[in-house]
This record gives sequence, structure tokens and C-alpha cells, in this order.
Amino acid sequence: MFTTPQPSGTRPDTRLYERRESAVRSYARAMPRQFNRAEGVWMHDDQGGRYLDFLSGCSTLNYGHNHPILKQALLDYVAADGIAHGLDLHTDAKHDFLDTFERVILKPRGMDHRVMFTGPTGTNAVEAAIKLARKVTGRQMVIAFTNGFHGMTLGALACTGNATKRGGAGVPLSHVAHEPYDGYYGPDVDTADLLEQRLSDPSSGLDAPAAILVETVQGEGGLNAASPEWLRRIAGIARAHGALLIVDDIQAGCGRTGSFFSFEDMGFTPDIVTLAKSLSGMGLPFALTLLRPELDQWLPGEHNGTFRGNNHAFVTATAALRHFWQDDRFAGDVQRRGDLLASRLQRMADRYGFETRGRGMMRGINVGSGELASQVTAACFDAGLIIETSGAHDEVIKVLAPLVIDDAVLSHGLDMLEARLGEAMRADHAIAAE
Ligand SMILES: *Cc1c(COP(=O)(O)O)cnc(C)c1O
Repeated sequence: MFTTPQPSGTRPDTRLYERRESAVRSYARAMPRQFNRAEGVWMHDDQGGRYLDFLSGCSTLNYGHNHPILKQALLDYVAADGIAHGLDLHTDAKHDFLDTFERVILKPRGMDHRVMFTGPTGTNAVEAAIKLARKVTGRQMVIAFTNGFHGMTLGALACTGNATKRGGAGVPLSHVAHEPYDGYYGPDVDTADLLEQRLSDPSSGLDAPAAILVETVQGEGGLNAASPEWLRRIAGIARAHGALLIVDDIQAGCGRTGSFFSFEDMGFTPDIVTLAKSLSGMGLPFALTLLRPELDQWLPGEHNGTFRGNNHAFVTATAALRHFWQDDRFAGDVQRRGDLLASRLQRMADRYGFETRGRGMMRGINVGSGELASQVTAACFDAGLIIETSGAHDEVIKVLAPLVIDDAVLSHGLDMLEARLGEAMRADHAIAAE
């Protein structure tokens, strides 16, 4: 059924990249291979090496690489000269997507939200969301949270916590207050209480916000998972203070936490939701912003963009919705696999006194230092396992396997992680004992 990954071991010639590609490249530095093919949970390099993918394009490939049903839908569409680019014109592909999204996702969840097609990346969806919130409320300030990650364009970057990323802006990042996320001050401080207190105090210095922007699980910020109670409180606080609740579901959505949206069954519905990453299901750029109908106060073309609605992505997204989301089976599989992942990570954490993080199939293990975490992920890569870190100090080893992964292959990858972690801990121990 599967065999242990066989990385190529030989380092390819990277001189072209060093000479011509911008220094901004990042993942390629930790994984200096040239990849040429991928299917399911496997990636291949040009030296014949094979790698198990526990990164999934940062949760962009929830259904794995080149899922055969999605791929066939796209091949058929291209072969029939389907519209590739149509600005925001009505097309068969857009019609099928909207119809399917309404029928399979929105209606069964009682959501009457409208669908705004933004530019194709996640940050575009976030920009549209906060711009709309400011327009509708007439307020300027947005509340975001510590360790939040929302994208790299100025508005979304202002909502992002990471200092290195923020430093790239080159101008002041303003009109955002970063409030403590759930658990930021440890288990004994309820940060929802703090936010409520600050917003209710006319002398706190916190301006009335247009929106509260939150991730239910902080994908880049260390896999901190907010409790449903905390999120419900935040939703209530937003409502009480005339702010719109925006859930950034770009990484946690599309099934990653075990339901299509990461906030399902929590007893609140956001005013605005952003989706991107796994929305197309095949890694094609595609983002959207969902908004309650009464918020849809845009003038035609007021928020524009050449690539709003990628027709090829409409086709693969529609195929993914039809294949995975028409009933509860896939969600149930993801939840079960998430439990398996949780118990395996817990076992590793218990062994070394570490802690686990996350929810569903979006989990990790906080090993306390970025140095140790990157030592482990580098050793994993050398053994044929693609895995990354997350968190303020990159201290969390993050498992983002494709949701479709076989239980046995998931266990096998976790065995590899456990072995590399054990080796790193023994090496650490040996150094400490010297
Ligand atoms: C990745 C991500 C974004 C930004 O998406 P891009 O496609 O990289 O612009 C925004 N919010 C969250 C939660 C993300 O994980």
C-alpha cells in the first residue's frame, strides 16, 4: 500500500535560484530540492526522491495533490475551451460554483451570506473584509489578536502580529489594535473579559471598532485554538459594541478542523468570513469573502480586480464540494483522523514534557524552541517527510497532512516525526550531559 519515503539525498544545483530568484524565497531554503510531480500525499523530486507531504501547501491541498476527480473536471473544462478568464462576467463555471456552494455549504448551515469574489489570494479576501467593515460602520479601527496572521498587503498586514512581517511594510501600520487571544496570559486570565472591559470603558483609549477579526485556530501563529466559549464571547462582544465579526477561515476552513467552516456548531455565525487556501481544492488561486446580505453596500466596481473569480478554480472547487461535502462522511473521517493525530502527538508531548496545540487535522507540538523545532523538521525532510514550524518563535512543529491521507500513512509519517524528535532529544541530552 505504501513504502517509506525515499528522499533523493543528492542536493540539486541551486545556483540559478541563488543568482536570479529574489532573496525573499523561504520554503525552498529549508527544502532545497527541485520537485517535479505530486499525487495524493506524495511529492517527487527530479532525482527520483519521494516525500510524504505533511505541509499541504499550508493547508491549500486539503484533498491532496492532483486529486483525480478534480483534475479530470479541470482537464475536461480546458479541453472544451471553457472560459479561463472572464473578469467578473457570468460563466457556466461561476454559475455551477455559486449554485453548488449555496446548495452544499451555505443553505444547510442556515447562512444567507452573499459571496464576494475578491482577488485570488487570501490577503485579498481579508482586505475586502476589513474595507467593507470600515465602509459599513463608518469606523476605522479593527481589533485583531496577538499571534494573528492575515496576509501581507497593508491592511491585512496591519492586522498581522509577526514583527518581521510587519517590518516589511515600510510605512506605519495603523488603525488596528492587537488584543490578547484566548489563553495569551495563560489559563487563568479570560482575555474576552479584558476586551469587554476595555471596550466598555470610555477612558480605555480603545476606539470603537469597525470589526473584530479572528482566526478560530491560529495557523501561522502557533496553532493556538480558541475555545468555543471564548469565540462565542467575542461574537457577543462584537455585536454588543456595534462591530462586525470577521472570521478569517483561510487556513482553518475548508474542512481542516473537521467541518467545512471552523466555527460550525459553536453557536454563532460571523458577519463576514474569508476563505482561500483549500477553496479551489487543487492549489489554484481562489479566494472569497462571505458577507451578510445587509452588509452588501458596495457600489458596482467599488472594489475591483482583474482576477476576481478564477474560472479554472471554480471548476475544481465545484468538483471538490460535490465530491467531499454533499454528506457528512468526509467530515466524519477528518474528525476521526484528527483524534488519531491528537493522541499520537499527545504521546510524544507527554514523553518529553511538551504540549500539543490545535484542533482537528490542524495540530502541532510545542517543543519550546525554534531551534529544536527546525532541527527536527530538517531531519524529517532528510528522511522524506515535508513538515514545517509555526508560532512566534517557530517553536511549534505543525502537522498539516492532506485531509484525505490514509490512517496507515498518517501513522507512518508520525512514526518518522516521533523518531526524529527522539533523536534530537537524545542529542540535546548528550550535549547537556557533556
Ligand atoms: C495564508 C493566510 C492568509 C493569507 O493568504 P495568502 O493567500 O497568503 O494571501 C490570511 N489569513 C490566514 C489565516 C492565512 O492562513
